[in-house]
Amino acid sequence: MIIGCGGVASVAIHKCCQNSEVFEEIMIASRTKAKCDALKEKLQGQTKTKITTAQIDADDVAALTALIESYRPQVVLNLALPYQDLHIMEACLAAKVPYVDTANYEPEDTAHFEYSWQWAYRERFEKAGITALLGSGFDPGVTGVFSAYALKHQFDEINEIDILDCNAGDHGYPFATNFNPEINIREVSAKGSYWEDGHWVETEPMEIKRVYDFPEVGEKDMYLLHHEEIESLALNIPGIRRIRFFMTFGQSYLTHLKCLENVGMTSIEPILFEGKEIVPLQFLKAVLPDPASLGPRTKGKTNIGCIFKGKKDGEEKHYYLYNVCDHEKCYAEVGSQAVAYTTGVPAMIGAMLVMNGTWKKPGVHNVEEFDPDPFMEALNKWGLPWQESFDPAMVE
Ligand code: NDP
Repeated sequence: MIIGCGGVASVAIHKCCQNSEVFEEIMIASRTKAKCDALKEKLQGQTKTKITTAQIDADDVAALTALIESYRPQVVLNLALPYQDLHIMEACLAAKVPYVDTANYEPEDTAHFEYSWQWAYRERFEKAGITALLGSGFDPGVTGVFSAYALKHQFDEINEIDILDCNAGDHGYPFATNFNPEINIREVSAKGSYWEDGHWVETEPMEIKRVYDFPEVGEKDMYLLHHEEIESLALNIPGIRRIRFFMTFGQSYLTHLKCLENVGMTSIEPILFEGKEIVPLQFLKAVLPDPASLGPRTKGKTNIGCIFKGKKDGEEKHYYLYNVCDHEKCYAEVGSQAVAYTTGVPAMIGAMLVMNGTWKKPGVHNVEEFDPDPFMEALNKWGLPWQESFDPAMVE
């Protein structure tokens, strides 16, 4: 059962339908049923997967539990918004069905995300004997799988990880976001932070800038952000001393964002407008281009990966694992741009591995806690082939 029918869900659903030997039947359940029906209409002639649809408010735990119990899926893939995570986990516990998502819980009224809320469910999932897999997108997701793979095959010990997320796509709009604008703007306008020597170091938003020459993309400005996988990798990679996350932004995007911030449009504090309470950021989302509409216009590539520094056989070693994804090729294949594609493919893979029992560990776990090999193989098979470099340029 897939919950949500937005940009990322659409890719995951296309991929489940390509993988119909594993996904014999899927249910698409979301807030707006018409979107689920339209996707079903588009796909059902081209796949053996049997698709059903349902309307659901995933914040209504009782209704969601009843829906899960009536459909009895082997796994629930949560591709709604981070606000729904805990409610969907509750429903999965009640119905005793495994859970997979791509983004950690964030309360709607505080622009702050961390794993503690979801990790608090560990014991209940363990006792119920069901697996919850957190963060099975690209970042988090593939970045954690890359880290587990590097540790398993390339290093005795990893000391530093730099996660680099480059989107060199051009959609031709002066300002638009590549996934849900509300979630995206909350993320990039927050303070930055990185992990060093056992504690968090906080920075001002966009305070740390580096330039990196990305394979197949070229030189881009990138900025240090707080990102959720830093929190889990700091716990799960033994010997780690520093983890940083950088994302590329063009000057035009940053100038627009600064201006929107300065006039108060990115605020999540409700204001009164013509007698009605509105949240400025939600209003902004309503006037910005829908990320789903960027697909046909976006040209260029993404390059997302991890640079590792550590030790092998007593020697210092550097290693870079990355994926390059082409916006136009993604659109031709599934009707979405690469940002949704790079998230939707790993979401399908995570759901597949949990569903067929390859990744089974009762409790609440992040991707790097599992054997990376079947996931790495599936990335090559399902559209996100990875590349490696043994002599990468390092980030200062
Ligand atoms: P969209 O806004 O495009 O889609 C969200 C979908 O969830 C919509 O279909 C929406 O319904 C549905 N939804 C929202 N609230 C509810 C609810 N209460 N009950 C049922 N359905 C609901 O978002 P994206 O597809 O861009 O993002 C999906 C998720 O992927 C997010 O959690 C995002 O953070 C995550 N993500 C993860 C990445 C990674 O690499 N790990 C990268 C990018 C995104 P409606 O159609 O009615 O609006």
